[in-house]
Amino acid sequence: MEKRIAVLPGDGIGKEITQGAVEVLQTIGERFGHQFNFSYGKIGGGAVDEVGTPLPDETLELCKNSDAVLLGAVGGPKWDNLPVHLRPEKGLLKIRKELGLFANLRPTTYFESLAESAPLKKHVIEGVDLLMVRELTGGIYFGRPSERFEKDGQEAVVDTLAYTKEEMVRVIRLAFELARNRSKKVTSVDKANVLESSRMWRETAEEIAKDYPDVELNHMLVDNAAMQLIRYPKQFDVIVTENMFGDILSDEASMLTGSLGMLPSASLSENGPYLYEPIHGSAPDIAGQNIANPLATILSAAMLLRLSFGLEKEASIVENAVQSVLNQGYRTKDIAAEGEAWLSTTEMVEKVKETILQA
Ligand code: NAD
Repeated sequence: MEKRIAVLPGDGIGKEITQGAVEVLQTIGERFGHQFNFSYGKIGGGAVDEVGTPLPDETLELCKNSDAVLLGAVGGPKWDNLPVHLRPEKGLLKIRKELGLFANLRPTTYFESLAESAPLKKHVIEGVDLLMVRELTGGIYFGRPSERFEKDGQEAVVDTLAYTKEEMVRVIRLAFELARNRSKKVTSVDKANVLESSRMWRETAEEIAKDYPDVELNHMLVDNAAMQLIRYPKQFDVIVTENMFGDILSDEASMLTGSLGMLPSASLSENGPYLYEPIHGSAPDIAGQNIANPLATILSAAMLLRLSFGLEKEASIVENAVQSVLNQGYRTKDIAAEGEAWLSTTEMVEKVKETILQA
């Protein structure tokens, strides 16, 4: 197999962690006879510094001409006070919109070997395996008007939560498709007791459920979902929700089993390319020190192998290698217990590569 992968390291630890994931993909390529061709593009604050925009046209072109996109992270204090259109996160919003990345998938998996350092009790999180599917290109982050104005001589503001039916249909249908290959349960999260958009979301989920009689659908209000994720997270399989609810709940879900440095994500469009990135940010506080945890980005690369290239076996080998390295007691600083020895970013990448070659 020969594939083109666009790599957008971004800012902060982005370069260190994407380098690790690229090496892991190269190792998989060598081991299984695939050729992955990597091309690099600019995004984020570094792109603003170099070419005056957080998402240069060349980067977008590069992505559109690739089979998959691997992103590090963007942002940092250096760019926090720039005008809104130059902020690094504008680059992220634009790439999602331009590539039509309408669904963000975030798996939360239980790592037995990290259970003791997770924020919740082991018996609550043991066996958690949930997939959050967040709508990514609609809702209140994109609705217009979004502006300040004057009303009756007072300062006022409006943001708009807008969806078309089709925007709801495609992401909810995707959630059902994904549930079919998992535990066949979809929880649709909304605020149907208050919002008209949520009532339409709920109706749409009901309509789609008719095409999936093998998948169980239930509805949950977002405030209850926030509570249930902490109380009894094992009840969930696939959760599907609109953009802002998903933004908040997916961060909550990501903390169930431990570190930010462990969790991958994938963003899917109708016709590809899909984009893969760790859920964490650019961690400017540890950038350039070779101490960032590369595993979330490596696990994002595993999702890339599975979802973009259909390489299930190769994806599992990467995921198993990560589990195995953790089971052997290797840690990066963020997941090491007090006083426990830890590996640098590059040493951790080497351990994963060695394990892949032995598998
Ligand atoms: P962050 O995720 O970058 O960092 C939060 C904390 O977790 C920090 O202490 C950091 O050192 C640690 N951390 C994160 N990833 C780690 C890793 N792989 N290994 C070890 N430790 C890790 O979130 P933040 O500090 O709120 O944001 C920093 C910058 O990142 C901001 O500019 C923010 O806008 C940006 N950000 C970008 C993205 C993205 O690119 N998708 C997402 C979130 C935040």
